[in-house]
Amino acid sequence: MSNNKIFNCEVIIVGAGIAGISAAKILDKNNISNIVIEANNQLGGRAKKAKKSFGSWFDLGCSYLHEGEINPLTSIAESLKVPINYENGDIFSIEKTKYLRRNKPFLSKNNHLLKKSHDKFLKNLNFYKYKVEDSSLSSCLNICDPYYPILFDYLTGLNGIEANLVSAVDFASVNDGKDFIIESGLANLIDKWAKGINSILNTPVTQINWEKDYIEIYTQSKKYICKSVLLTVSNGILQNEDITFIPQLPNYKIQAIHNLPMGILNKIGVLFKQGTFKENDIGWYVALTDTNDNDNSQLISFEIRKREKEHMIFFFGGEKGFDVENFPDKYYKIITAFIKNQFGNHIENNIIEIIHTSWGKDPFTKGSYSFALPGHSSERELLKKSLEKKVYFAGEATIKSYYGTCHGAYISGVNAANEIISDLSD
Ligand SMILES: Cc1cc2nc3c(=O)[nH]c(=O)nc-3n(C[C@H](O)[C@H](O)[C@H](O)COP(=O)(O)OP(=O)(O)OC[C@H]3O[C@@H](n4cnc5c(N)ncnc54)[C@H](O)[C@@H]3O)c2cc1C
Repeated sequence: MSNNKIFNCEVIIVGAGIAGISAAKILDKNNISNIVIEANNQLGGRAKKAKKSFGSWFDLGCSYLHEGEINPLTSIAESLKVPINYENGDIFSIEKTKYLRRNKPFLSKNNHLLKKSHDKFLKNLNFYKYKVEDSSLSSCLNICDPYYPILFDYLTGLNGIEANLVSAVDFASVNDGKDFIIESGLANLIDKWAKGINSILNTPVTQINWEKDYIEIYTQSKKYICKSVLLTVSNGILQNEDITFIPQLPNYKIQAIHNLPMGILNKIGVLFKQGTFKENDIGWYVALTDTNDNDNSQLISFEIRKREKEHMIFFFGGEKGFDVENFPDKYYKIITAFIKNQFGNHIENNIIEIIHTSWGKDPFTKGSYSFALPGHSSERELLKKSLEKKVYFAGEATIKSYYGTCHGAYISGVNAANEIISDLSD
């Protein structure tokens, strides 16, 4: 390492999402000087709140603490005295989901049959848990099963891409657990937790030069010099080559970036006047609706919440997710018609505001979260692999079993920071 160089700090972290923040906290604790350089005008990355007029408690990105009982963000919320709703941890279970067909609840017989189909899917998926040979996730479903469309749509939402394009091995590695809710907004929790990190906002990193025994980081107006760099940007940013590397990244890394593309999950939030919903309306719904435009039937998944403010959150993954950001008006119409059909025409007057997300077009993520193409799950390890004890990688896409989540991003940041600390002390 060049000793006479003037370093801005020992480590530069690119990106102030959950991975970048958790890494900065570990480095701070170990007295390793660091700066987090963030392209956006706020911390949190995909933990992002809605505009004030709608309500900053509304999470545009992540909102559930998946695997809540072991999720490190659960204890962070508890230590910061941010209330957690532990009550509906099994909100997404088949037993708790409120299934509707043409506005009417499923008969209990149908619920039972759906549960059987889901169990069969889990059994098929389990086959891939310890396997190397891979297939598409949809191969775990039976296309002739009457509940195939519901299960396919559910998997599309979870992955942000149609299940036929997703690696079964990758998905099988994910653990199940309770889903806790921060009603005041997960993004607000992340904001509170991030206080005190040394960050620079509104500053996209454009180039990283790692050919010498120190690192040069370029932004539009400044050059920084450090010993190590930790990249936490999404795979959408890496795939789009928004950051140039000199020398370029090794081929295995470029391939991993391309084989772990970004899926799309978009939300539509509908804010209502107080008193619109009853207490027992709260929960997670999956509705099969007939449409008027020869589209056969549509599947609509949504949650109703009453705490903070009364609102509905609609989720659209894969192609429909793309559609939401390209044709929001069409979706506003579909949703308004659906709500009127479900709760009566009068409800339209109770709607205060509708908003939607556009994660595909978001210049700083270029997608919602990563998925692995069939046969490429193991490349998450290659994506994570550090280069010559100088360039390190973290973020949701780099962590098997927890990918696509906040706690995955958190753990990946902690792991990368510990690796840097160990390498710096060598
Ligand atoms: C709609 C949606 C719903 C979700 N729901 C959940 C959920 O309920 N529960 C859950 O656990 N997870 C959920 N997720 C996933 C979760 O939000 C992500 O896995 C997690 O936030 C990723 O954190 P990260 O630090 O890896 O990346 P990011 O949050 O993307 O952080 C990377 C940061 O890098 C910055 N950046 C980009 N380019 C540059 C550059 N050139 N220079 C400097 N900085 C740059 C970005 O602005 C960003 O702040 C959801 C995501 C979406 C989009």
